[in-house]
Amino acid sequence: TAPTQAAPPITTVSQELFARARQVTPGGVNSPVRAFKSVGGTPRFIASADGAYLTDADGNTLLDYIGSWGPMILGHNHAGVREAILEAAVHGTSFGAPGWREVALAELVTRLTGTQKVRFVSSGTEATMSALRLARGFTGRKYILKFRGNYHGHADGLLVEAGSGLMTNADDLGQAAPSSAGVPPEYAGLTLVTEYNDPAALDALMAARGHEIAAVIFEPVVGNAGVLLPTPEFVAALHRSREGGTLLIADEVMTGFRLALGGATELLHLTPDLICWGKIIGGGLPVGAYGGRAEVMEYVSPQGPVYQAGTLSGNPLAMAAGLATLTALESDPGLYGRLESYTERLAQGLAQAAADAGVTVCINRVGSMLTVFFQAGPVASYTDAARSDTAAFAAWFQGMLARGVYWAPSQFESIFVGAAHNDAELNATLSAARASFQELKE
Ligand code: PLP
Repeated sequence: TAPTQAAPPITTVSQELFARARQVTPGGVNSPVRAFKSVGGTPRFIASADGAYLTDADGNTLLDYIGSWGPMILGHNHAGVREAILEAAVHGTSFGAPGWREVALAELVTRLTGTQKVRFVSSGTEATMSALRLARGFTGRKYILKFRGNYHGHADGLLVEAGSGLMTNADDLGQAAPSSAGVPPEYAGLTLVTEYNDPAALDALMAARGHEIAAVIFEPVVGNAGVLLPTPEFVAALHRSREGGTLLIADEVMTGFRLALGGATELLHLTPDLICWGKIIGGGLPVGAYGGRAEVMEYVSPQGPVYQAGTLSGNPLAMAAGLATLTALESDPGLYGRLESYTERLAQGLAQAAADAGVTVCINRVGSMLTVFFQAGPVASYTDAARSDTAAFAAWFQGMLARGVYWAPSQFESIFVGAAHNDAELNATLSAARASFQELKE
């Protein structure tokens, strides 16, 4: 059957808001990928969210696959989380002194993740930045090693070959240039870079410079170049990288509590020295954390010499949202299986719809994270991902949006399935996808 042409949605209010926003905010948004720059068109301004759906400022309903870029695993406006935030707010919104919720959330996080001590901060960026300072303080070394296309937030030393940023090439010793203006080359020079999923390159770099490297930081499953899965050989090389005293830092800001209660660390049988969290740990409020074994964490102030602080760290509303979210996840043992089953059926349905339309795609999926790469694949690294047909992706994205499905507005991102995605949402998504793939061929 011929695909039905989607009626163009009315977006007058979003357009007005975007015009006003651009007068007072760079690019009209408070985080770059929201601006739709790589797919074109006007971003939708969101008025409210419930379950698997967003309602934009013009009253259009959108089936949401972004989930606020990961945190909303239980669905938007989850009753338990909302009630916990409201209940906490009645007792005051910030104390600047410790409170019981920080203790309870730290107990829960350490138990679920097999760590001994955690420190709460207010974003994923703060978590990775602080974990790296800690690794440098603990080891007395100054270099760090990251992987091309992994994103760890926007601290200076981490904006080096980051995510979908400007691509440059590291030399044989891992030395690379910054991927943002404003990062002095001297800072970037302390960050070594090599290819994800290349165990030989990692071994070689560690052999040459391991004694100078405080930490290897990595996304255990990458979401920020689109979804990339680590090979078992790469995971083994990550473990080997610790042999000379370098700390292994798993950045689980995206994967923590998403791929399993114990994150990708549990799924891949990883034993990092430090883990960073964000997103789900705050249930939709601004929270990040880093943690690990006591011997390392005790280097953090006021116990140890590595300074790290925050006016709003451990904020009672944010702790309440995190506690309610993690408690709900733990009390529903079937949830991760349901997310997996939905996302696998989504992957299969998308692959079939693309094949029927004669569109070449490579779908990478793990748990409830998925990317449709517009290329034949396989896609195992950023360099592979960068070969995708971004123009075809943008056209398909627009087809989906016109049909009310809000996919991540970039080829190099994961989508996130949540507990509120059910059969009706799957069917609606697949029929929108089928029509959008067909459109690419017309
Ligand atoms: N690390 C990873 C793996 C991320 O995906 C992100 C954000 O997307 C960050 C760190 C930074 O977190 P935040 O945006 O909360 O600063």
